[in-house]
Amino acid sequence: MVSNIFPILAYGVPSLTKKSTPIEYKSDIQELISDMFATMYKAGGIGLAAPQIGKNIQLFIIDISHIKDHEEGHLFYKSVFINPEIIEETGEEWEFTEGCLSLPGIMINVKRKPIVKIKYFDENWNQKEIEVDRMLARVIQHEYDHLKGILHIDYATDLKKKMLKKKVSEIRSGKANVNYKMRFLS
Ligand code: ZN
Repeated sequence: MVSNIFPILAYGVPSLTKKSTPIEYKSDIQELISDMFATMYKAGGIGLAAPQIGKNIQLFIIDISHIKDHEEGHLFYKSVFINPEIIEETGEEWEFTEGCLSLPGIMINVKRKPIVKIKYFDENWNQKEIEVDRMLARVIQHEYDHLKGILHIDYATDLKKKMLKKKVSEIRSGKANVNYKMRFLS
């Protein structure tokens, strides 16, 4: 089976700032999931949320297996999250510089809590509840935000936003220099 590579929505396209709706229990989304993985790998990402390909449904995927090896939680480095719900975020906030496929070249320091408890369905519609931390937690938090219509740039300071204004407007108008397929606000 040949995978479909979706264009990734660029900042400015409305789907990115909309809230996503739950997926009907046991819907067949296997093909969509494998297309999302193919799309994410092609773009060199470590996470991709359905709104980024224009689907406002509660689904995101992650794969951090190439950047992490032996930490606890490795079973979840490559995961599919359907209808996820973050139950609890705990610990002292830590700052990390995040990127986002929808905002190429825009790096934002985001403070997040290190420990996340999340409930979700996996790709086989098995319900799971896991507690994860650090990088794994952060990637999950970033993707989870996408389902709420929140982007990493929303956490930037006003000064940072001002500094990024030109770059952001280039992204919005399709002038961003990217090596993967994107869909811009036309
Ligand atoms: Zn993102």
